Amino acid sequence: MPELPEVETARSLIADEALHRRIVDVDDSDTFVCRPHFPGELQDALTGRTLTAARRRGKALWCETSEGGPDLGIHLGMGGRIVVTTGDGRAAEGGGPRRSDAQPRRAEWDRFTLKFADGGSLVLFDKRRLGRVRLNPRTDALGPDAAEVTPAEFRDLITRGSVAVKARLLDQSRIAGVGNLLADEILWQARVSPAARTGSLGRADADRLYRALGAALDSAIAKGGVHTGDVIEARHPGGICPRCGAEMRHGTVGGRSTWWCSREQVAQG
Ligand SMILES: [Zn+2]
Repeated sequence: MPELPEVETARSLIADEALHRRIVDVDDSDTFVCRPHFPGELQDALTGRTLTAARRRGKALWCETSEGGPDLGIHLGMGGRIVVTTGDGRAAEGGGPRRSDAQPRRAEWDRFTLKFADGGSLVLFDKRRLGRVRLNPRTDALGPDAAEVTPAEFRDLITRGSVAVKARLLDQSRIAGVGNLLADEILWQARVSPAARTGSLGRADADRLYRALGAALDSAIAKGGVHTGDVIEARHPGGICPRCGAEMRHGTVGGRSTWWCSREQVAQG
């Protein structure tokens, strides 16, 4: 599942490589990926326009279009990637991590394509077909973006109520962009138990979590995804905390598979 860093690499790729190029054709024939739009609907709405800006809030990604056109929303699904090709055929990719066992690109896994007047293209490449393309996606139910939330906003959202802190981090209506791996990384970096109740966290805990959030996001964006986090490789039976050497524990917190250090992430009370 892409989290904020993967979506950000796709957004910055589009911003760097795909803006202000005239769209001359659109392949929106995949009725599953493009639902609820009919074949041709995206083509009619986008042909002749350019993408003018690439925006992101949490895991939501969308492009603004010229001449007052609709926003083009692109959801990467579980492992989708954006591939932008120049007029002379040079391709650049962004989005979900390219796995070491990745198979070469196949045309049938191109789920949605914008063709540009210069001969290049923007493609949603998604082998698993869980991505989604739609016009004017709604983003108003999302909380502040995890990369832009202020310390005061974060302190407020992470210390109110009485839910497991991990569940709060995953609640996209409170803070947008943190998924399962990133939540485990942030909690481990801050030495906070995933099961700690939000109401039990003090200012020092909140500020430590805030710093861990910023550091984890910066690192994951720089290294290409949340799978590069320091504790991610220890998320398996027999895993050892890479900081203190204690055994990693496993359980379900906030409805998700969760790993934490048995020594450093102990719930208070
Ligand atoms: Zn530890």
